[in-house]
Amino acid sequence: MAKVMIITGGGRGIGAETAKLASAAGYAICVNYVRDRAAAESLLKGLTTKCIAVAGDVSKEEDVLRIFAETDRALGRVTVLVNNAGIVDRSQRVEQISAARLERMFAINVTGSFLCAREAVKRMSTRHGGAGGAIVNVSSAAAKLGSPNDYVDYAASKGAIESFTVGLAKEVGGEGIRVNAVRPGVIRTDIHLASGDPSRVGRIGGASPLGRPGEAVEVARAILWLASDEASYTTGSILDVTGGR
Ligand code: NAP
Repeated sequence: MAKVMIITGGGRGIGAETAKLASAAGYAICVNYVRDRAAAESLLKGLTTKCIAVAGDVSKEEDVLRIFAETDRALGRVTVLVNNAGIVDRSQRVEQISAARLERMFAINVTGSFLCAREAVKRMSTRHGGAGGAIVNVSSAAAKLGSPNDYVDYAASKGAIESFTVGLAKEVGGEGIRVNAVRPGVIRTDIHLASGDPSRVGRIGGASPLGRPGEAVEVARAILWLASDEASYTTGSILDVTGGR
């Protein structure tokens, strides 16, 4: 069966490193992005398998439907979904957080992952005539740590991703679909610029037991393993990639 992967938020950071490893492993890939078309297109130039870049906001249902439809048309039926697109926001205490910020955080991090998984299940599940597949969600160590004084809203959105991972894994386990998540710690990507504290990666990442922040490729390797047949008896798992935090 052809290996077809959709990576949401695949143009930069952890998603882009995942695309590089997946292409080297033979996957055809749909790299979704929301704004940075140049990054997605430049990534595609370095990939050796058949790959497409599709713009779309995962929090919008019509965009999600289009991302999957374009993948069906150009690459065939998806076999792996990596629910990677996610955002943080400025460091704030809970009593400062606006309703608009909360809505955006949960719409992108939670609803987006949910909608993409829904479309993947429709195509992968043996119940719907599919041949199975794997879904890898991207959580965060924040789900366990709570991120006080930083972004408790982000932490809570990743907590939702973990419950979603466990529940969906049980729901579709008998239909040929494995569902797992990675739980990265502090990883050196541009996402930290949004917190308003550029020293964040070195400061917090340096405090991990391994004494350094992680690199995006180190998370990508875990995602690729969970997606692969090497992980054939692993479902409903949350794999820490935190340097020991
Ligand atoms: P990043 O470098 O900021 O990349 C984020 C990617 O998500 C970009 O490609 C961006 O698209 C895309 N994106 C953002 N909003 C989107 C939307 N509404 N629809 C579709 N795509 C969207 O972030 P990253 O560090 O690689 O993070 C990837 C995932 O890892 C996130 O879920 C994040 O929460 C999680 N994570 C990261 C860390 C860390 O320390 N870096 C730790 C734990 C968990 P554009 O390129 O078009 O802007």
